[in-house]
Amino acid sequence: MLSVEEARARILSHARLTEAEVVSLDDAFGRVPAVSSVVAAVDVPPFANSSMDGFALRAADLPGELPLAGEVAAGSPMLPALEPGTAVRIMTGAPIPPGADSVVAVEDAEMVGDDRVRLPATEAGSYVRARGHDTQRGEQVELALEPLSPATVAVLASLGIGQVEVRRRPVVAILSTGDELAAPGDSLAEGQIHDANTVSMAASVREAGGEPMILPRVGDDLAAIEGSLREGSARADMLVVSGGVSVGRYDHVRSAIERLGELDFWRIAVQPGKPLAFGSIGGRPVIGLPGNPVSALVTFELFVRVLLRGMLGLAGDGRVHVPAVLDTTVPKDRDRRAYLRVVVRSEADGWQATPAGGQGSAQLRALAAANALLVVPEGEAAGEAGARYDAVLLRGVR
Ligand code: AMP
Ligand code: MG
Repeated sequence: MLSVEEARARILSHARLTEAEVVSLDDAFGRVPAVSSVVAAVDVPPFANSSMDGFALRAADLPGELPLAGEVAAGSPMLPALEPGTAVRIMTGAPIPPGADSVVAVEDAEMVGDDRVRLPATEAGSYVRARGHDTQRGEQVELALEPLSPATVAVLASLGIGQVEVRRRPVVAILSTGDELAAPGDSLAEGQIHDANTVSMAASVREAGGEPMILPRVGDDLAAIEGSLREGSARADMLVVSGGVSVGRYDHVRSAIERLGELDFWRIAVQPGKPLAFGSIGGRPVIGLPGNPVSALVTFELFVRVLLRGMLGLAGDGRVHVPAVLDTTVPKDRDRRAYLRVVVRSEADGWQATPAGGQGSAQLRALAAANALLVVPEGEAAGEAGARYDAVLLRGVR
């Protein structure tokens, strides 16, 4: 049996970066930048402006009572130079008139009639945001190699950049196989079950930053599987197949991969999800996942997600890992690394993990209720109550 690390390393050796494409900033959120920095096209802010509603003046004229010599709002053109000994009413974001060096907030001012204002002493520069204070024109602004966040797209926007180069989303062909599968929403004939893997794999592809391409599900039929794999390999960057990879009489996925390309079949020391078919067709990686829906999702997390991220230039699983203490003993297979479905909570004395429900590889609701996978290593016969394990957070902690 291969370890999770060995299997991952072999799979990752097939990760070819997708090319860069230019997208509008409107579509850039969540995309992975293909450049490590951008050059500021303008100063940010582009002119000195007020950070408060108040009065612009010269600090040297205060404290005192000053005549009002006009008003400037956000979006107004620059006023003429401020006469010494006067003040102008100014709004947040409005340009500081030449000659003024400070702003006194409206809350600290007292009107004297309609056209004079009494102001306390202030420090020169108060409430003035200097031109280029945040970024100077021509400055290199680094972009982290991670999906663009709302704040980062805002930075790009403020720099005057309307388009950004990002990695093309890897297209992942998704194929569910099995004679027993019916579409969700269809009624079940005898012996049928609803296909849960097509939607879960498509959702996981999206979550990892890829674009799913769902192929019509096929039965346990070698020719049909071959036809789908041929189509998928022609149109996608990689293929993910569920079901039919094991050693049953009707498990044809391995033969199909073998006939169309190269196949590696591995038993991986992981629980759930021992059998995994890996290969390539026309240079496109193909991963055959076990059909049990929990196994399919866990092995997707361990192997498909990292491959997809590798194609985007991203390292690792992109998950937060925390050390969590298990509160209940959960038996497992000693030879395999278990990924227990748990609910992790933050307690006063650290992270705690509780099993989210039954740990069977078809018990989807426990996976849905879980917010983490708790990693109990090979060589242990159980996850022990009171012991601390690595928890892979699949989402936020309540
Ligand atoms: P297999 O990997 O084909 O041996 O399937 C293992 C188990 O997973 C069987 O009980 C299948 O019925 C079930 N299974 C296979 N594919 C799916 C699917 N797409 N959705 C739900 N269950 C599935
Ligand atoms: Mg099957």
